[in-house]
Amino acid sequence: MTSGPPVIHPRSLAERLAWVQADIADAARAAGREPDSVTTIVVTKFQPVAMVRELAALGVVDFGESRHQEAQAKAAQLRDLDLCWHFIGQLQSKKARQVSAYARVIHSVDRDSLIDALTLTAQDSPGPATGCFIQLNLTEDEHRGGVSDRDLERIAERVAAAPNLRLLGVMAVAPLDAAPEQAFSRLRLASERVQRIDPDARFISAGMSGDYRHAIAQGATHLRIGSAITGNRLVRD
Ligand SMILES: *Cc1c(COP(=O)(O)O)cnc(C)c1O
Repeated sequence: MTSGPPVIHPRSLAERLAWVQADIADAARAAGREPDSVTTIVVTKFQPVAMVRELAALGVVDFGESRHQEAQAKAAQLRDLDLCWHFIGQLQSKKARQVSAYARVIHSVDRDSLIDALTLTAQDSPGPATGCFIQLNLTEDEHRGGVSDRDLERIAERVAAAPNLRLLGVMAVAPLDAAPEQAFSRLRLASERVQRIDPDARFISAGMSGDYRHAIAQGATHLRIGSAITGNRLVRD
């Protein structure tokens, strides 16, 4: 098995990015997929704006953030670059309007109140549709983010019907206490159910630093990778 967190952590940001990109391409080919069927979102939460600039100079376009205030500040400071911001964290409905002002994609849609807020927002200020992934809760804990299996179709139908939202597919975080291949195969089944509602909603947001090879094997199209590329989030050098 070659899956799991990368063992080698090259020293520079450019080297880590290149290493992870090559590993992703390798995992895609091993799964019989084209490397360019996989989009890598670099998660830059807790990282400085300067690092985002450095990554952008290295060709990264897709960035993921999980906290609204931090994401909003970064997007504002980097307005001169044409970046695609992905909001990947839990989102309070009252923040939905502000998040949709800078995030082109929201990966954590999981409640009616959030869909209501996103729909109202767009009535006020029509703009390009916000891409939405329905987050699926793969844990036993109902308080974790994400819809339960039984609510998946209903929530997906609501997003698909909203004129200013574009249903992209499904998203999940693999539970820590379960095998990632099982978690991602459940997500793949959820993706098939959502595609029966909207055949265009074929994207799967899954895979982090420690499990992206498993996610690619199960059809992930959007990886959310932080520490394997950015280095340790807590210790700055
Ligand atoms: C932080 C985060 C990631 C990235 O995690 P790493 O282990 O640093 O790759 C991916 N998805 C979500 C939802 C996150 O909050």
